[in-house]
Amino acid sequence: MDHGGGVERRHGVRFVRIGWKTQPTMRFVRHVLQSVTVLLLTIPVWVAVGAINGFAVRSLPAVVVGAGFFASLVALNVWNVLALRAGELARIRPVGAFAEVSFAIGAYAALGVGLGPVHGAALFFTCVPAVAAAFFGDNHLVGCVLGVLAVALAVQAGLLYPAAEAITVTFAFAAGTAVLAGGTQSILNAAVRDMDRLSAINTLAATASTLRHWPGDLVPVAQDLAAAMDVDRYAVVERPSLGSQARLVFTWPHGDWVALSQAVAWADEAMRTDRPVIRAGLVATPVPRSTPSAVPDALVDAGQVNLAVVTPRRSTVRVPVDTRQTGTVAALLAAMSSRAVLVDNLTVLANTDELTGLANRRRFFEVLERDIARAARAGKPLAVAMIDLDHFKAYNDRYGHSAGDALLRRFATSVVGAIRAQDLLARYGGEEFVLVLPDTDVVGADHLLHAVRRANLTAAIGQPVTFSAGIAVWDGSEAPDELVLRADQFLYAAKSAGRDQVAFTA
Ligand code: GH3
Ligand code: MG
Ligand code: MG
Repeated sequence: MDHGGGVERRHGVRFVRIGWKTQPTMRFVRHVLQSVTVLLLTIPVWVAVGAINGFAVRSLPAVVVGAGFFASLVALNVWNVLALRAGELARIRPVGAFAEVSFAIGAYAALGVGLGPVHGAALFFTCVPAVAAAFFGDNHLVGCVLGVLAVALAVQAGLLYPAAEAITVTFAFAAGTAVLAGGTQSILNAAVRDMDRLSAINTLAATASTLRHWPGDLVPVAQDLAAAMDVDRYAVVERPSLGSQARLVFTWPHGDWVALSQAVAWADEAMRTDRPVIRAGLVATPVPRSTPSAVPDALVDAGQVNLAVVTPRRSTVRVPVDTRQTGTVAALLAAMSSRAVLVDNLTVLANTDELTGLANRRRFFEVLERDIARAARAGKPLAVAMIDLDHFKAYNDRYGHSAGDALLRRFATSVVGAIRAQDLLARYGGEEFVLVLPDTDVVGADHLLHAVRRANLTAAIGQPVTFSAGIAVWDGSEAPDELVLRADQFLYAAKSAGRDQVAFTA
């Protein structure tokens, strides 16, 4: 994760940008400033204790320089605390914390030189801020601080000891501090990485319940998925249903890092054996079988698991990938995928008429509302036609209900074959259908209905079946149900006038 640090090139020169150890939050920055404040407060305490034990001013210029560093530290810290109070996190920069630590190192070193005689204690205090930096700085920041420390120690020891001794002392303190700061740094870095991983899992858990489009909706969380598994690349392989072919659904950051056919084959093997498959520097981890609700029951029958992630064998810090982590992520992905499929299926179900496969009345009103809005924006006409089969009850009575059903289906097919892609035919109820015809006036709608009539249901069933229809064109202001009511009134008129005809007012 980006915490402000990094290396960048400007005009061909490499610049190291120092950063925080973790994403700076109010709480994090408050603790950083608190610990720097403690550093700052130890200086007067240290001076007071030293004075009681018989400090003498050895070098006034050094004391003045030390006091100058101390004053800079106080000023910068006050500035940062005020920024924190105002909630302006952006004003508190890693470089500011670096400067505070450097001022503290400078203050201790200069005071150590200026106030005798406990050299060893003074050198120790000079090193303390560098260790403190490991608590909040990234590797670049800690590296820079150690550089500052080495210079400060060299100056301090050089002024306090004979040359040969000064070199040893500088080396000993610098190396000891580097070990301490380095160890602290790597332990805390690992902790931070774990925190980042957990926060990525948090994000994913929150997203899991909002994901609707699989795998398209994975794009915004692709990086979190990588962080959750602690890998720099991965592929998601899925078997959409029991016994079907495994297929690649998603790769990150791009598709060219792995021989995809191999990744799919190993993922398939992992899904079949319910065990991670490690080969050629990659590991394919399936959803663990102990994950009960991730995949619909039908898909986990007979040990079939329907999703696996393929990652490099090694994590971003070069240790073996933890397959419990990748398994957790695989389970989460499987839950997302099955949920997306479920939502899709339910949406289709909620919008479809079972007998004919047409849009149902619910969907019809949804589309009508949308198309009225579009017509209003585009200033184009919009026609609605209500259609009702004539004497359908008699047809049912004569040929039976299932023949009636078949006729309804055939009628649906023939009308769907005659309309354009943007038109909608819906089953309104029983043997009543309704057409939404965007960008169509009365003449166009009437023309369409006559074309349907000519398609000739009679021929298909050897028995004359006709329909009546009413057309209404949106008047520019009426509500959807008012428009439908008008079309229905025209339909009623067509029925009254003897059926097998289309009614409207021009
Ligand atoms: P009209 O010309 O006045 O429209 O007469 P009609 O007989 O078509 O109209 P009516 O409303 O009297 O009858 C509609 C019939 O449609 C009654 C009902 O049994 C039949 N019906 C409604 N839904 C279905 C269905 O899903 N399948 C079948 N087979 N018949 C249906
Ligand atoms: Mg009828
Ligand atoms: Mg009817």
